[in-house]
Amino acid sequence: MATAQPTILLVEDELAIVELVSFTLKGAGWAVDAVHDTSSAWDYLQHKRPQLVLLDWMLPDQTGLRLLSRIRADRNFATLPVIMLTAKSMEEDKVAGLDQGADDYITKPFSPRELNARIKALIRRKAPEHSELEMRAGPLAVDPVSCRVSVDGQPVEMGHAEFKLLRFLIAHPERVFTRGQLLDKVWGDHVVLEERTVDVHVLRLRKALGAADGMIKTVRSVGYMLSEK
Ligand code: CA
Repeated sequence: MATAQPTILLVEDELAIVELVSFTLKGAGWAVDAVHDTSSAWDYLQHKRPQLVLLDWMLPDQTGLRLLSRIRADRNFATLPVIMLTAKSMEEDKVAGLDQGADDYITKPFSPRELNARIKALIRRKAPEHSELEMRAGPLAVDPVSCRVSVDGQPVEMGHAEFKLLRFLIAHPERVFTRGQLLDKVWGDHVVLEERTVDVHVLRLRKALGAADGMIKTVRSVGYMLSEK
């Protein structure tokens, strides 16, 4: 089973910035794929799903803003986190970017620290399962960095697939997901698995959670959710 490293797509034509940003992000644990114009970015998005897009405003073929509106017009990418990069510091440009659906905006020149901080904040907001903060629900605690799980402070062991499933569910508590959604979100868009794979991992996850097994609820004819109730 592919467990791809979380990836950021960087759309930027200035090679010095590509290098700086790639170096910074790799240091923060991301994989980085860089493309240099909007059409390559669009092609890329037809095949791969990054966790986040860093999108330059001025690109050789079209503006980043045009690509952004194309991304937002596509149902598949409606929730894809996008940060615009630009040398422009004009207030109206910021507004235009945010109007088109950018989640955040960084003005060049920016420091690596600022970039990392913005990315972290956005991921936390939009895709909490990729956050590095410990997540808790009732007696359950999940540390995404060390991959440790505990119930009432006692460590519990589980396989990697069960961990990823739990990390996703605890990041979105009290929300029901279908098996198909869980396959997409936990195993990735490009993995072909049968829906009953999810049932197998839920079963193993409940077993691993012991006394807290009741927190993983089956919602009949819909799917699964994590709930404290
Ligand atoms: Ca540029």
